[in-house]
Amino acid sequence: MKSPVTQVLRTLHQRYAPVSEGKVADYIPELAKADPNLFGICIATRDGHLYEVGDTRHKFTIQSISKALSYGLALEDRGEEHVISRIGVEPSGDAFNAISLKPGNGAPFNPMINAGAIATCGQVLKKDGLSRIDRIREYLSRCAIGQLDIDQQIYQSESQTGHRNRAIGWMLRNFDIIDEEPRDILETYFQQCSLRVTCADLAVMGATLANQGCNPVTGERAIAHEYVDNVLGVMASCGMYDWSGEWIYRVGLPAKSGVGGGILAVLPGQLGIGVFSPPLDEQGNSVRGIKVCMDLARELSLHMFNPS
Ligand code: GLN
Repeated sequence: MKSPVTQVLRTLHQRYAPVSEGKVADYIPELAKADPNLFGICIATRDGHLYEVGDTRHKFTIQSISKALSYGLALEDRGEEHVISRIGVEPSGDAFNAISLKPGNGAPFNPMINAGAIATCGQVLKKDGLSRIDRIREYLSRCAIGQLDIDQQIYQSESQTGHRNRAIGWMLRNFDIIDEEPRDILETYFQQCSLRVTCADLAVMGATLANQGCNPVTGERAIAHEYVDNVLGVMASCGMYDWSGEWIYRVGLPAKSGVGGGILAVLPGQLGIGVFSPPLDEQGNSVRGIKVCMDLARELSLHMFNPS
């Protein structure tokens, strides 16, 4: 007999597979090659059980979803005071790639927009003979099902076209938010965005956050317990670009999306959700991903502010 949760996922998959709205991201030429029909939904519980339907094991790039987790690593490396003095935690209401820095000290509004994520990369330490990207890759891999690798084609494509992010990097240097030349930090950021994950990885990352930083599939500690609430806090207020307010109102779960078509959502203490479908809406969020999460929240009563 199929579990009732798998049945719900199956129904949602059937309901939204025919949707043809949205457009695959093409501002990074390699991303434009994504198949718009790919569609996977996965739930991972805090005791490590996975429910999955559709293309849950297809690899795609994590993109902005990485921002939430690398923020955890920066906090572990530098502590809350240091990080918050350089990167705020206020929703900006601006698009993810806006050159949006606070008047005065030039600090990015939050770590979920590109400016804040690039600044966050700059806070990660090179340590034990490991480069920043090695440490970020290991950290994110500890939250996932297994080792993550970099999609070299996407990374090259990102690096070749990332002029706007470079401009942001130099602004951050100008305001001393980062204290070295931004070149290496930017390449780290492009590589971080190009890490390959599956929809099942996203669900397990979510379950790791739901499980106070301990990966329920591997049993390994992945994120220091003390910073899990910081990561979930910025996801709740800023994780869905300039649709974050509407998202928390309608879905009621901390979440992060990426232009690769992934969405990771968390019901703290309970479960993680991963949805993958490349066509995006105006804000850069997966169209099917948003629809699935809205229905899941309603049908499984997951909205955090309306606990059943
Ligand atoms: N690599 C992308 C960029 O900086 C990440 C954007 C995203 O997923 N929103 O443009």
